[in-house]
Amino acid sequence: MAKVYLGLGTNLGDKEANLRTAIYKLQERIGKLVSLSSFYETAPWGFESSNSFLNAAICLETQLAPLELLHATQEIEKELGRTKKSVNGVYSDRLIDIDILLYDDLVLQTPELTIPHPLMTERDFVMKPLVEIAGKVMHPVQKKALSALYKA
Ligand code: AMP
Repeated sequence: MAKVYLGLGTNLGDKEANLRTAIYKLQERIGKLVSLSSFYETAPWGFESSNSFLNAAICLETQLAPLELLHATQEIEKELGRTKKSVNGVYSDRLIDIDILLYDDLVLQTPELTIPHPLMTERDFVMKPLVEIAGKVMHPVQKKALSALYKA
């Protein structure tokens, strides 16, 4: 069993419902819920939009391998109506975005998947909910507790 931390974000439609539906599907397909953060309202990051985001972090126990996990989260994004991917780092409004932040203390770099998520510690909207549920967890590359990296 691996313990995985995922970051969730949405800025369209009924945002709370989008998060709740994603969380329900994640538990159904990925594994048992270990912990769930509060929902945080945040400003859009990296692009202009009048729609604020609702962000959360979730921890699940899973038997899925990292790439199986990525494909399962991408399937859920599609089902929730996300059609556009970010292109060349340009972001856009989305019904749901699911990022794989940590997978145990695995460090993985493939063309399709990088773990830990390479931008996680730079983004307050990821770190704030994550630190709520995983403040004492060590970042496997930066070798510091997440709470220390968030304050840093
Ligand atoms: P985005 O459109 O921002 O959700 O980016 C999704 C793309 O990032 C996908 O095509 C994934 O293959 C890739 N990716 C790389 N690392 C990760 C990760 N840790 N979590 C989610 N997607 C990732």
